[in-house]
Amino acid sequence: MASYLFDLITSRIPSTDKVFIETLDSRKITYGDLLDGSARFANALASLGVVPGDRVAVQVEKSPEAILLYLACLRTGGVFLPLNTAYTPAEIEYFLGDARPRVFVCDPATKDKLASVAAGAGAAIETLGVKQDGSLMEKAKAQPASFKDAARGQDDLAAILYTSGTTGRSKGAMLTQDNLASNALTLVDYWRFTRDDVLIHALPIYHTHGLFVAMNTLLLAGGSMFFLPKLDADAIMKLMPRATSMMGVPTFYTRLLQHPGLNKEATKHMRLFISGSAPLLAETHREWREKTGHAILERYGMTETNMNTSNPYDGDRVAGTVGFPLPGVSARIADPDTGKVLAQGEIGMIEVKGPNVFKGYWQMPEKTKAEFRDDGFFITGDLGKIDERGYVHIVGRGKDLVITGGFNVYPVEVESEIDALPGVVESAIIGVNHPDFGEGVTAVIVPHKGADIDEKKVLTALDGRLAKFKLPKKVIFVEELPRNTMGKVQKAALRETYANLYK
Ligand code: AMP
Repeated sequence: MASYLFDLITSRIPSTDKVFIETLDSRKITYGDLLDGSARFANALASLGVVPGDRVAVQVEKSPEAILLYLACLRTGGVFLPLNTAYTPAEIEYFLGDARPRVFVCDPATKDKLASVAAGAGAAIETLGVKQDGSLMEKAKAQPASFKDAARGQDDLAAILYTSGTTGRSKGAMLTQDNLASNALTLVDYWRFTRDDVLIHALPIYHTHGLFVAMNTLLLAGGSMFFLPKLDADAIMKLMPRATSMMGVPTFYTRLLQHPGLNKEATKHMRLFISGSAPLLAETHREWREKTGHAILERYGMTETNMNTSNPYDGDRVAGTVGFPLPGVSARIADPDTGKVLAQGEIGMIEVKGPNVFKGYWQMPEKTKAEFRDDGFFITGDLGKIDERGYVHIVGRGKDLVITGGFNVYPVEVESEIDALPGVVESAIIGVNHPDFGEGVTAVIVPHKGADIDEKKVLTALDGRLAKFKLPKKVIFVEELPRNTMGKVQKAALRETYANLYK
């Protein structure tokens, strides 16, 4: 037996001279380079003492070498542990202290700040830069281009990804070789990826979306990727005539919609636009279709579960829904408190089960136990419903639910009414402490520039469309909503900003 996921990847290589990654400065990394380079990095890791099961924590900028390092981890049997490049040394201290990696790889520019943190956690510190530089790169260059892969089975860990956790400490989701392999194989089929595909990759690679959904899928399809360091609408527009597909967070689509060059002609070489990680506004879906003729395919997943549901490749891609459970994945809606499975159409907790679902939280058996039902379903924390056609709808995170005067208000229901009003770009509904109601429904709205809109107009328009208890107690106008790099609106930050609104 060799390394399960890496074996699967190698078994699907179309040819060693085929390009897997092309960068903006026209560097080309072939599948042959992946094999050689990952062997060199694997030898380098082994020389640092990495053995199967050891964590390799990595906080580096996006580069093809970072991908070689991921593959090298698979080959040594190490557990890849990517960290958001925005994390501060104090945050890194928590992650390294929790994960206890054998090696910590950081950017050459941050080594001085992080050396003592790594030492404190007992990790060897190495560096890897974006210019094929850094101490680990030097070590890898000196190593042979062949490696005897460690024996790793389906159930062995391939990666630990810390959740972005807005409340409490973030948790390390343990993902097995088969969690990643089975999900990527499903996505190759469901989204029809082939060797002819060229994906525009402008996502970060420390998150499940850019790392696993995008990269593993393209690897198992034997396709290619254009690698962009970050979202760059001009660069994406230029690449589209040479690409076939893009995976992005909703911000990609809203940004590209502002690009004067976006039209049917510019996107005619593309076969598929996929969105996920945060809700895509129905308005964005509609505008994109009008301008390009393409219906964006929205899917739903999370760090712990990989991808759960997707709109269909053929058939209706319904705006405001995340489609059907993927083949092999079971999804159901349950009462959040009792776990009782609810009737079709009712709103409740989305629960999922399948080979995609993670093994548990790193060193948190109690927390893990609390988030699974006895029959093995994982409690996602997302509230939603399944409609009569089987499409899954998400109405918000459980913790974003607003409880006002004892009534539940699902943010999405109010947000979609507000978003449909003239002069509104988008909105966020939050619950803010209120002396009478417990929480007051509060609307934070981004208006179009110069729009003739105010609190009174919004409330008048909503009156009669929503039950009284769902109407915002206050409406606030802002220029933009706070978002993280994955496009998620930071509702916890909004709640903090407006914490004293009703005091
Ligand atoms: P993460 O673990 O960072 O990938 O975040 C996962 C969370 O993102 C999910 O639990 C959902 O709350 C949210 N999410 C992902 N995809 C979608 C989507 N298509 N629509 C709405 N929310 C989404």
